[in-house]
Amino acid sequence: MADFPSHARVVIIGGGAVGCSAAYHLAKAGWTDVLLVEKNELTSGSTWHAAGNCPNYSGSWGMLKLQRYSTRQYATLGDELDYPINYHVTGSIRLAHTKDRIEEFRHVCGMAHLQDLDLDMMMANEIKAAYPFIELHDLEGGLWDPYDGDIDPAQMTQAYAKGARDLGAHIIRFCAVTDIKPAPAGAWDVVTEKGPVRADVVVNAAGYRAAEIGAMVGRDIPCVSMAHQYLVTEDIAELAARDDKLPLLRDVDDSYYLRQERDGLILGPYEWQATPHWVRGDDPMPDDFSFQLYPDDLDRLEWYIESACARVPILGSVGVQKVINGPIPYTPDGNPLIGPAPGLTNFYECCVFSFGISQAGGAGKILADWVVHGEPEWDMWITDPRRYTDYVTKAHVEAKAVELYQNEYAIGYPNEERPAGRPAKTSPVYERLKAKGAMFGARGGWERAAWFPASAEEAVEKLSFHRTNWFDTVAEECRAVAEGVAIMDLPGFSRFEVAGPGAADWLDGLIAGALPRVGKISLAYMCSPRGAIVSEATITRFEDDRFWLLGAASGEWHDRDWLERHLPAETDITIDNVTARWGTLVLAGPKSREVLAQVVDNDLSSNAFPWLTHQPVTVGMGRGTAVRVNYVGELGWELHMPMEYLLATYDLLWAAGEAHGIRDFGMYAMDSLRLEKGYRSWKVDLDANYTPLMASLDRFVRLDKGEFIGRQALIDQQQAGVPQRFVPLLVEAGTADAPFCAVVWKGDERVGLATSGGYGHRIGRSIALAYVRTDLAHEGETVEVDILGERFPAVVGTELLYDPNNERLKA
Ligand SMILES: Cc1cc2nc3c(=O)[nH]c(=O)nc-3n(C[C@H](O)[C@H](O)[C@H](O)COP(=O)(O)OP(=O)(O)OC[C@H]3O[C@@H](n4cnc5c(N)ncnc54)[C@H](O)[C@@H]3O)c2cc1C
Repeated sequence: MADFPSHARVVIIGGGAVGCSAAYHLAKAGWTDVLLVEKNELTSGSTWHAAGNCPNYSGSWGMLKLQRYSTRQYATLGDELDYPINYHVTGSIRLAHTKDRIEEFRHVCGMAHLQDLDLDMMMANEIKAAYPFIELHDLEGGLWDPYDGDIDPAQMTQAYAKGARDLGAHIIRFCAVTDIKPAPAGAWDVVTEKGPVRADVVVNAAGYRAAEIGAMVGRDIPCVSMAHQYLVTEDIAELAARDDKLPLLRDVDDSYYLRQERDGLILGPYEWQATPHWVRGDDPMPDDFSFQLYPDDLDRLEWYIESACARVPILGSVGVQKVINGPIPYTPDGNPLIGPAPGLTNFYECCVFSFGISQAGGAGKILADWVVHGEPEWDMWITDPRRYTDYVTKAHVEAKAVELYQNEYAIGYPNEERPAGRPAKTSPVYERLKAKGAMFGARGGWERAAWFPASAEEAVEKLSFHRTNWFDTVAEECRAVAEGVAIMDLPGFSRFEVAGPGAADWLDGLIAGALPRVGKISLAYMCSPRGAIVSEATITRFEDDRFWLLGAASGEWHDRDWLERHLPAETDITIDNVTARWGTLVLAGPKSREVLAQVVDNDLSSNAFPWLTHQPVTVGMGRGTAVRVNYVGELGWELHMPMEYLLATYDLLWAAGEAHGIRDFGMYAMDSLRLEKGYRSWKVDLDANYTPLMASLDRFVRLDKGEFIGRQALIDQQQAGVPQRFVPLLVEAGTADAPFCAVVWKGDERVGLATSGGYGHRIGRSIALAYVRTDLAHEGETVEVDILGERFPAVVGTELLYDPNNERLKA
């Protein structure tokens, strides 16, 4: 074809709601040399048949923001782009059948208010007033979202396409991408049915076909399509007689949505009999599924239809006009992929959306932020494609997708460790701990003991927003760490060995603080150019130019890509990902020295082996590294051993510890212990919404050293005044501790956000770690913390609530 372009700055693959929004947002950001290629007609994938519901509600801080961006944009998009869109802002009601659900709603309301979203709780009479056809049986109350509504997905997509075209982007339809090859200088040659095009940047927006595009460049995209159905009724006289459209109704405890469509109703359940498609060889995805559906299967919806008819009897008064059963793609956590493709350069993903209509607007913005600015405006780790690692196989995604679909509307309890797709990665100690009755949780695919029930009867996961059945047992584990000796298997730290001439200088330019001296370790923070926290690493220095960088288990691919991306072109520095080769055992407590001394020859006195240093050790027949550090604030060591020696090391330590009353401890105890020490957790307390200065990590920032990424932004922030600071709060809580994203109040003002909360068993207090306005961030200041909709008094504490001078660590 003569006018097919040979080059584009960005090629977007896929013309659904998301791809078109991405094209529009890129063009709007000034990147107008955009080519969008679509296999069939725009909207022909999942978009054309979507129900078009546009909620703001989300239990995630980032997703709430993203969806708020969408709904705000949709309200004016038609006018802005001169393309009329049917967008009805009807408001929505979420029903609560239980007190737990009410607590969840109250918590999300608090988060939403801090983002200027006026979500509100509803009483039964208010629900009835807003929705006259509803029956109120089994209800505890509800939640009102005034900005919720529905949009015509096809019109919205066409509007974005028009907006993109008006700004100079090209859209070519009936033009499937058939191959993608690397080209010089980090570019890509995208082969299409209408010819090849060289792209500086590629965006995979191919919806449920995203994995086909990924396969062309060796990337295994986690995506499984689930069949989702909704039915549309015939007209209902009561609705025809009304002037206003009914609010959208979500009966989340019975797992369905119900909304008015013209004079009928749309009923869409998330049924227990979740049905994945196109997973196995005998069920291949057809080459072309454009504008197609799966066969109806109303039998699986029977229970939900009956439940909805009992709730809104007019639903049962008419027949079904049509059924839509189409593919919804799922990742293992139900959030889409938006951001850099792991391991690839100039290749982005904006795909696998389960709610791509409500998220298209925000997704386009975040994608454009990534491409144009190198990072999103606010932290979007929840959608970062690098949040998964190699354990995410097809089998894992399928298991998780089914579980997610079944639980699409389930309550988002803290510390829920759902079982599907597990165990994926286990340490050699796993079976030993399992035999002892450990309850596990997965972090970055790695199984870690969460807590150790005293008996089989105790070994149940009782989900609650309040302190629950493991509270007393975890208190015992904490006591063992504080008063005796305890051991923990902590597999999965992402671990990179960085070595070679110039490694130290190079690393120094990546981190905000100082590198440790040889033989020592230190914490280090990597920032983006705007000073935002990108990553945290514990750096162990073995030689002048040889280091280990240890980070969170889930950060393995993220950190690998960050390091590799910043490696100079011509260099002898090597980055070796040794994550799977090493395991970590934590031995902590005042008696840990006596126990460790029985199995190693090293002099463990503080003079010979001071805090924050490391030494080679031999334990039995295994050789590894002992580091005098821990995350729990007691005398102790981390033993880093090759995986093949980990079990033997554990057994030797256990045998040596028995005379001292050694016991196992798990992640829940560690979380309590680290709160008392104010130790931050990456992607919980530390993320790209904050700089290290806001996180009160000044001692890890050296603005007077040479250049490092983010330095100028931090200098600017320091000069302008740091707007928020991270502080520990001692909370006069009731039976629940502060959940993630609890709002902090001063009088009638919202002044901060708690990122972690829990009970500190050593100090016997409820703790929240929070970002608060800088003028309030001083010891003794009183505030209030919103816990599940109720405000509790709190006071800003000293930075280290327990052992403020680290005497126990240095003992
Ligand atoms: C029954 C049902 C109801 C739903 N209701 C809602 C709802 O109420 N609210 C909501 O937010 N979401 C809803 N969804 C989900 C929503 O439809 C999707 O999340 C959304 O449409 C995804 O948009 P997308 O642009 O990512 O993907 P798609 O719309 O699937 O677009 C991807 C495009 O990529 C193209 N493509 C694929 N391969 C190639 C190739 N090789 N070359 C070129 N082009 C290619 C495809 O042809 C397709 O047009 C619903 C889904 C279903 C099934």
